[in-house]
Amino acid sequence: MECPKGERNGPCGGSTTEYCYVDKTRPCVWYKIYDRAFRMGRQEMLMEVLPPLDWDKTGGETWADVYHQIKKVGAKYFIGGVIAGGEKRKVAWDAVFRPVRQPEWWSGDAEYHPPAYTEPVSELERRLKVGEFVVTAEVAPPATVATNKLLKNIELVKPYAAAINFTDCPSASPRMSSWACSTLTVQAGAEPVMQIAARDRTRIGLQAEVLGSNALGVRNILCLSGDSMNMSSIPKGKMDILDMDSIHMLWILRRMRDEAIYMDGRSIKFPPKYFLGAAGSPMPLIHVSRRFVNTKKLMPVHNSSRPTWYMIQIA
Ligand code: SF4
Repeated sequence: MECPKGERNGPCGGSTTEYCYVDKTRPCVWYKIYDRAFRMGRQEMLMEVLPPLDWDKTGGETWADVYHQIKKVGAKYFIGGVIAGGEKRKVAWDAVFRPVRQPEWWSGDAEYHPPAYTEPVSELERRLKVGEFVVTAEVAPPATVATNKLLKNIELVKPYAAAINFTDCPSASPRMSSWACSTLTVQAGAEPVMQIAARDRTRIGLQAEVLGSNALGVRNILCLSGDSMNMSSIPKGKMDILDMDSIHMLWILRRMRDEAIYMDGRSIKFPPKYFLGAAGSPMPLIHVSRRFVNTKKLMPVHNSSRPTWYMIQIA
């Protein structure tokens, strides 16, 4: 059973304990993964940031990688460790399977990664960091090229909102892009939150878009998986190209900002600076997997390996 949204780091915001958000005829695969991990006592692995797919390898057997890794560490060492049990088993197991899960080009983990900067990069970040109560407002991007209503709405909420959110093609229907609305907001003297949905991005498109928007003054970015293409009007778009999930996006953007590298390892001479955020659903908090994925996005809250703010939709 696979996740129709290609989520590789935990359930999406629409999942429930009963159904998959995209396909109501089946359960969410992630609840099964979490249950299995807990039964095996391997729940700490769920906090690792797993990589996006290496498309060169899809359709192939992972066992080939496992075989090469066993050869590398030594079959005797591996089998001996597995038979010994306890900590030795864990160490031998990780010596083989961790490099398979975490290739060098990714190296995802659940560790603390200090930010590369100390001064807030946006007014929203500054106010949240000093513990201020802030209000943000959401303005729907227009479905036309006319910007007069958009600019009017920006002026309307500007005095009251610390930042203005722009959705990224909600319900999988096209509207003016979030980065264009965000740029217009910067020009209008207000602070935008640019939402980016993984649904419509490839890893290259994502990196290009954040560089461009950052150069244009956008400093707050909210990473989302995005509504499923199932919600779009007909004819439906292609649904089987799922290049990243929202946690992949956060990891890629964090590394661009804090380590000044692209996903492919090239260095960025002048790296972008932005305040990263994630979204969560309070609905399925009853299930342990939701707690885990919320924590995975949020923790540790005051560093940059995870988003430093979190938005929850309650209506
Ligand atoms: S993560 Fe979402 S799309 Fe994937 S299986 Fe679970 S409910 Fe379905």
